[in-house]
Amino acid sequence: MPEVRGVGIGLGVAQGPVARMAEHLPEPPDEHSAIGAVAEIARVREAVTAVARELEARGAAAGGNAQDVLEAQAMMAEDPTLQEQIDAALAQGKTGERAVFEAFASFRDQLTALGGYLGERAADLNDVSQRVIAHLRGLPAPGVPDPGHPFVLVAKDLAPADTALLDLDKVLAVVTSDGGPTSHTAILARGKGIVAIVGAAGAEDLADGELVIVDAASGVVTTEPTADELTRAQNRAHARAAAASAPITPGALADGTAVPLLANLGNAKGAAEAVALGAEGVGLFRTEFLFLSASQAPTVAQQREAYEELLAAFPGKKVVVRVLDAGADKPLAFLNDAHEENPALGLRGIRALHASEDILREQLTALAEADAAARAAGEGADLWVMAPMIANVEETEYFTGLAREYGIRTAGVMVEVPSAALMADRILSVTDFASIGTNDLTQYTMAADRLLGSVASFQDPWHPAVLKLIRSVGDAGRLNGKPVGICGEAAADPLLAVVLVGLGATSLSMAPTALADVRASLLAHTLGQARAIAEAALATDSAAEARAAAQHAASPTNSAVA
Ligand code: PEP
Ligand code: MG
Repeated sequence: MPEVRGVGIGLGVAQGPVARMAEHLPEPPDEHSAIGAVAEIARVREAVTAVARELEARGAAAGGNAQDVLEAQAMMAEDPTLQEQIDAALAQGKTGERAVFEAFASFRDQLTALGGYLGERAADLNDVSQRVIAHLRGLPAPGVPDPGHPFVLVAKDLAPADTALLDLDKVLAVVTSDGGPTSHTAILARGKGIVAIVGAAGAEDLADGELVIVDAASGVVTTEPTADELTRAQNRAHARAAAASAPITPGALADGTAVPLLANLGNAKGAAEAVALGAEGVGLFRTEFLFLSASQAPTVAQQREAYEELLAAFPGKKVVVRVLDAGADKPLAFLNDAHEENPALGLRGIRALHASEDILREQLTALAEADAAARAAGEGADLWVMAPMIANVEETEYFTGLAREYGIRTAGVMVEVPSAALMADRILSVTDFASIGTNDLTQYTMAADRLLGSVASFQDPWHPAVLKLIRSVGDAGRLNGKPVGICGEAAADPLLAVVLVGLGATSLSMAPTALADVRASLLAHTLGQARAIAEAALATDSAAEARAAAQHAASPTNSAVA
């Protein structure tokens, strides 16, 4: 078993021996109580209260996010509906352990059936149930092992009570076989900066004491790592630690070539964190995120308020706002609620806005008004506006012309469709800038739905086919003297970021938490080296080969000669 794959949380990497979470208590047998219902009720009440108080105490010790989660678990333990179900089972003559087991299991099944966020709370209920049963049996609560040395914790899923109190000096990383990106393990790991991979099917086969590398950036647990792999992981971990504590400077290559580092935001609330992490502006403001649950198009006034808040957070800085990108993974009922067999290939992005031009006009009105108001208040930003899912020159001319009609000074397009990348020289001759959305560009180049797990291996922006398209946009930008930004997830991959600059990207936009890693990576290479690394990646046959070729070309010995 060379590797186990799952969903990585963050970009960290760690290595160490596995320590597995203790197995759960077995299902209590369905037998008749020897002490009778009244005595059982008293036993169970005492156990439930003790567990609830212990969870609260753990919460108070942990504080912050974890405290909320643990207090919610304590409330679950004492939930009156659950108590009624337990009492009903006890009245039938069951033992306390069995009654607790059955009542929690039935509640858990109801949550699981609901799916999504509530479904992921099922693990919390299991944990409370186990704790109560352990208390009834006089056993220690199941929990995190203590092998006496730092370890990689491997579990089916972690209960909040366990994650909250993880000793970060001992737990090097966490790998769970269950859980998704919104599970508590993921939420708390993100909050505490723990290297974590969740939903890693196959993690159950990792053995106690086995040495592994946990790479959250790629979502891979490497078993039986080679000395070379261990050294590389260690170097990355050191580079990350150094990047996190390095001074925040404007994005630049080692030779001083400026590469502004911008933030991807979905609402103005994230602005303060982005600024604190050194974002030099906003490279992608996803306006559709503001209105995902709206059944009617937002009014001009509603929009203006949101945009003004955003612009005021970045005085004097570049802020690239994308007009509504509806469709496929981001349906907006008011723009297109038709059933489509292939929504990713349907009436989406600029196509949907073109079909409902009044909505696009209202959005441009709101943006122009917010821009004017922010400037009048002395808080003006440098507003750029772009359109999503542009497929051809006609759409580029259409959007750019309309934006100019509303006084938008800088109007551009996203390059997410291969046809737009192939026509980039013509497209950039009729608009002000391009921003490459590598998420969709990869999806359409590789014909792999970005939401579908079964084709996830195709959704890799390192593929040379994707890199070639990006290069053609970079070349077109240079020829036309127009900026070419990158705002897909690819920009957050520190090494790929160097490749993208080598291919002609002039700015990079990403989730703010990725800024430090990318900043440090850019500072390690000159423009000449970035171009050489990009050439090495382009001259391969696959995403894996491109990544390996770039790693090789970027290693200090090879970079020195470029
Ligand atoms: C992209 O497609 O890369 C992009 C940035 O847009 P979104 O992820 O919102 O589709
Ligand atoms: Mg996109």
